[in-house]
Formats: sequence, structure tokens, C-alpha cells
Amino acid sequence: MHTATATSAPCPACQQALRHLVLEGHYAKSVEVELCTACYLVWFDAFESVRLSGLGWVQLLRAMVLQPASRAVLPPNMACVRCRKPLSAVRNQTRFGHTAALECEQGHGQLQTFSLLLAERGLLRQVLPADRTSLAQEGRALQCLQCGAGEHAPQASLCAYCQSPLRMVDVPRLASALLVRHGDVLQLPPGANPLAMACRGCGHPLDPTTETSCPRCDHVLVWADWTSVRPLLDAVEPLLRAQQPRQAKPWGRRLREQQGDHRATQFHRWLRHANLVSRHDDGGQRGLMGRLRDWRNWLGLFVLGLVGWGFFR
Ligand SMILES: [Zn+2]
Ligand SMILES: [Zn+2]
Ligand SMILES: [Zn+2]
Ligand SMILES: [Zn+2]
Repeated sequence: MHTATATSAPCPACQQALRHLVLEGHYAKSVEVELCTACYLVWFDAFESVRLSGLGWVQLLRAMVLQPASRAVLPPNMACVRCRKPLSAVRNQTRFGHTAALECEQGHGQLQTFSLLLAERGLLRQVLPADRTSLAQEGRALQCLQCGAGEHAPQASLCAYCQSPLRMVDVPRLASALLVRHGDVLQLPPGANPLAMACRGCGHPLDPTTETSCPRCDHVLVWADWTSVRPLLDAVEPLLRAQQPRQAKPWGRRLREQQGDHRATQFHRWLRHANLVSRHDDGGQRGLMGRLRDWRNWLGLFVLGLVGWGFFR
């Protein structure tokens, strides 16, 4: 489905070869990216906003989170993957707030950290006090989703290691971003929810697409590391792959639908308005000639003639 090959282009941060990946976009388009899975960096040749299908996101997330981040602290000056000229910082305003990217001034593309790429699409969110409480109850630590570092002060908002903002996965948003393929939202099979995840407080099954906390024990659904995402990817991927594109309609039927009803044309509407064609489908019995014999039409013509004669005289 996707190809992953090493390219000759080196990572602008660690100089290891980048991985080239072709991801599925919406409507059978593909999106090409280059990844450094150690530095959690993503390079796009195109500037337009990347629109990945659910399967595209699964491919990207799997490629990225297969191995933990290598705690890379990004160097201050990074160069374009194509022309090696220094990249300049640009700020993106999205509906989820400001994010930043590095751009080549020659137009070769854009470099973004993996966490910002997801955050600017609303797939990550800030950490709330209730999240910290639930994490503490589980005995887990908040992990930096960019570099993987797990040791932070209890109320810290920035990663102590790489200085990225500490964020968590926005589970319902991520789940709904994944559940789209061929432009259609995935219809879950009837019966038991195949995406159900056990509450980490009491084991009660939770629907990650809608539930953010457990209705039974109030424990908050917190995904503060990439390992938590994997069961969702495993559950969603077979369903996405089984999703077929909507069947194209046979050409004859499509053509008839496109052309529409001949009665919908402007000319026919005008005729109808002038009472020359019957208004209803049963009008065949009393067609054009019947209408012409109608005395009101002759009266109308006579008045029109009179007005015309008065005007042009
Ligand atoms: Zn790297
Ligand atoms: Zn460049
Ligand atoms: Zn970090
Ligand atoms: Zn629970």
C-alpha cells in the first residue's frame, strides 16, 4: 500500500537519511513526505495543507511511532532538504492556535515537527489538571510527544528536555480523523464496537470516538505517549482497508442525471409560462395545438399586437 524507501536527502537535524513515504490522501490523491523517525521531523515538498485520509494518518503514525523518539534536540539552524539553504521560520495560524514550521525561501518545501503537524490539525491538545490526576492514578508519566522524554516537573507545560509544549493526544479528534476513507466516514459494523478501549481505571469499555472519560469511574481517557495510540491503529486499519470507494454509477444513468429532465430547461419554463405547453406530465392529451386553440392565447396575442402597433406607429 505504501512505499517506504530511504532517500539520499539527509535529515536537516541529525544528517541520517530521510525515509520517503507515500501516504494516502483524500479522493485517491497521494501525499509524499520524507520522515526522520529519530528526530520526529516531517518534510513536505508541497506547501498546500496536507489532507490525509484516515489510512494516510494510520500510515504516518505507524511509520513514526514504531520506535520511540530518540530524544533529539533540534539544532537552531536547519537547512532545506533540497537546496541546503537555511530554512526560515513561519508561523501558521490554524483554528487550533498558532503553530510554526520551517520553510525554504526558494519554495522547495516545509519542515515541521511531528507534534506540531498533529497539533495544528487539533489531533493533540493541552494537558489539563484532570489529565494529570488520571495519569498519577495510573502511575504513568506524561511523555513529551515530540522527543519522548518522560521526566518533567509535576505541573510543567514545556518539555524539560526539548522545550516543546507538553501535549496529549486528543483521542476523539484523532479517532474521527482516522475514520475517513474515500471521502466517506467509516461505517462501523453493527454489534460490539470494534474500537472499544478498556478504561484504565476500572476496565469498562469506552468508545474513543465519543467518550473522553469513563461513565462508571470518571477516570479520564489520557493518551500521553505514542504507545497508547497503537491499539487504535490496529483496530482501525483493517476496517479502513475493507472500505471500498463508492461505486461509480453506470455511464448512461449518470448522463441522464447530469442532463436532467428536459422540462427543467429555461426554454421549457418560458413555454410553460406562456401557457404553450401543458404544466403536467399528463398534458400529452392536451398538447401544443390544444393550447393554441385556447381563446386566451389569441386574446393575449391580439393585445400584444395592439400594444406593438401603438408603439411602432
Ligand atoms: Zn533526524
Ligand atoms: Zn530549498
Ligand atoms: Zn521533548
Ligand atoms: Zn472506568
